[in-house]
Amino acid sequence: MKLQDLQSMTLEELEEMMSILGEKSFRAKQVFQWLHKHHITKMDEMKNIPHGLRCQLEKIAPLCTLELLQKYESKKDGTTKYLFTLSDHNIIECVLMKYHHGNTVCISSQVGCRMGCQFCASTLEGLIRHLTPGEMLAQVYEIQKDIGERISNIVIMGSGEPLDNFASTIVFIKNITSPLGLTIGQRHITISTCGLVPQMRQLALLQYQITLAVSLHAPNDEIRKKIMPIAKKYSFEELLEACSYYIEQTNRRITFEYALIEGCNDQEEHAKELGQKLKGLLCHINLIPMNEIAERSYKGSSLLHAQHFQAVLQKQGIPVTIRRTLGEDIAAACGQLRRGYLLKQKS
Ligand code: SAH
Repeated sequence: MKLQDLQSMTLEELEEMMSILGEKSFRAKQVFQWLHKHHITKMDEMKNIPHGLRCQLEKIAPLCTLELLQKYESKKDGTTKYLFTLSDHNIIECVLMKYHHGNTVCISSQVGCRMGCQFCASTLEGLIRHLTPGEMLAQVYEIQKDIGERISNIVIMGSGEPLDNFASTIVFIKNITSPLGLTIGQRHITISTCGLVPQMRQLALLQYQITLAVSLHAPNDEIRKKIMPIAKKYSFEELLEACSYYIEQTNRRITFEYALIEGCNDQEEHAKELGQKLKGLLCHINLIPMNEIAERSYKGSSLLHAQHFQAVLQKQGIPVTIRRTLGEDIAAACGQLRRGYLLKQKS
């Protein structure tokens, strides 16, 4: 038996493993707390676990550790971007944002991404691999250790499509919300998806109280297909149906993300069409002038333009805000996270 990493196991799985190993079941709780409350990075730090069991664990499931490679602090707004090296030498990025209501960490769910959104840097080289739940958790733990303050909010909005890595994302939620771990409330977690309809429905059935953010970025199929390949797989209508289903199951309001791209999706007629389509849905729209990335020629709309777009939606009774862009000067803003570089694994 060789598992991906120890932090990727739920408490139930640890209990099952202890039983297979002939250990008392309370050992599972002890191990879980060392991992998810104390964030140890060496097996030897588990002081109340017998040496023999620690050695066995080492063989079955090694600890997931991230190595801090770089840290960039924004001079504008206090946002910090972290680059971590994974055990296979891939590099991931995540971002810490300090708000007055608490510290928020934006984590990555994959190395790269295969969704192909035209305006996003994370997808330029495609998907390299999924992250394990342990690697997703360790991003939060390492940043909390680094700043010596509690992380209270998580957004899964970094590189990758979390619903394309569904199983890891679910274990991440289970472990980060556990009372034996960081005890982050479900309402303090946001998952952002480009709109994977079957997985959205699957998530709805779990009835978590997390926030689901859906990257819409267009008022219709025609425009959406131009900038988001996923729109060719699931129509606008199917996506909105899945959103209604999600709301029905969870009673949670959906957040729609809408990056305003000059001359593409930012015209008054687009705002009107969007308002009509979303009328009556329990939702909120976050407008964000698109952050520019070097490899693409798309331009973000001006703030003035965004304000006009917002006003048109407001007139139709749709709750809408313009999101403040954070971390732009360190390429840590939405859509600017990318895979650093890949070093060949030493054999
Ligand atoms: N795959 C997920 C989460 C990662 S992207 C998703 O698609 O939702 C996080 C958010 O940033 C998404 O809303 C995404 O559409 C948005 N985004 C990507 N590139 C952007 C850019 N250049 N400017 C503004 N927002 C962008």
